[in-house]
Amino acid sequence: MTARWQKILQRSIRTHEECEKYFGSSFAKTNYPLLIPLSLAEKIKHQGLDSPLAHQFLPQSAENLTQGLIDPIGDHQYSPAPQIVHRYQSRALLFPTTTCPVICRYCFRKNELYQPDSLFLPKENETLDYLLAHPEIEELILSGGDPLMLNDKKLEQLLSKISKIKHIRFLRFHTRFISIIPERINNRFLGVLNRYQKFFSRMIIVIHSNHISEWGPASLKKIARLNKIGIELRLQSVLLPNVNDTTEALLNLYRLMIHHRVTPYYLHHPDHAKGTSHFQLSIEEGRKIFAPLRAQLPGWALPRYTVDIPGGHGKVDAFNPESYSFAGKLLNQHGEFVEYSS
Ligand code: SF4
Repeated sequence: MTARWQKILQRSIRTHEECEKYFGSSFAKTNYPLLIPLSLAEKIKHQGLDSPLAHQFLPQSAENLTQGLIDPIGDHQYSPAPQIVHRYQSRALLFPTTTCPVICRYCFRKNELYQPDSLFLPKENETLDYLLAHPEIEELILSGGDPLMLNDKKLEQLLSKISKIKHIRFLRFHTRFISIIPERINNRFLGVLNRYQKFFSRMIIVIHSNHISEWGPASLKKIARLNKIGIELRLQSVLLPNVNDTTEALLNLYRLMIHHRVTPYYLHHPDHAKGTSHFQLSIEEGRKIFAPLRAQLPGWALPRYTVDIPGGHGKVDAFNPESYSFAGKLLNQHGEFVEYSS
């Protein structure tokens, strides 16, 4: 049976022509796929084509510029098995899908998802064998693509296999669904989470959202339901020009989230992905936007402002309490200096 969230997803804008027709406006043709659920398109239309929502999901000609990296954070370099990225000793990413409920124009994996030779393509046995053979992996992060694109049956099958790997004690989901298609958080899905929570010390859902305008009562209700069954909720956002590049925009989002018991976790400096040059800003600008948050949020609600150093060097803190200016070097996860130009 097709679930309601799947029906909502079926009714999406997927072509340039559909997009122009729906919004009654012309858009640049880009080299990247398009996916906007009609329920989201309605919101974008209502909020306007220059709104933070529109800038996140509508195509722009700058996507065709060639500067930037195909694999900005070095996923391929750290992929020892299909669907796996193992960059940090104690945690690994598992990509069970290559698709998402929406295609974000700023996506850092926009050149990797949807490719025929993608490292995200499923070869489940090899993937699970790798996890079994690596007892140092304590935390598994289901990311992608969006892991909640799996239907509940497939998700349950996956969780059943992961739950048998005893050294995986922490399970994290990264998802864009909750503000985009809240219907995904249905009784069946909550039932699956409930059944598998007991196999992990902590089960965490990291919600991806960048602006308060993404949120409505239906999405907030789903947060309440996840809270009720004891799932730990965190927020990750990308700092994006024309979307949330002011302290006030971030504060509005964070205040809403902490009020609903979602703790801000990461504020990502945008990665240097090819096709996202219009979403870049300097580290100096980012630091100036981030700094006032320290006085205006409770300490426990302050996210980590981080930058992922190209080449697979990993995530490091981008905020520097000593200066707004940036010397062009960052310390990677191994304590080595790496050149970085923002
Ligand atoms: S949800 Fe994440 S992985 Fe999917 S398109 Fe958006 S940024 Fe990319």
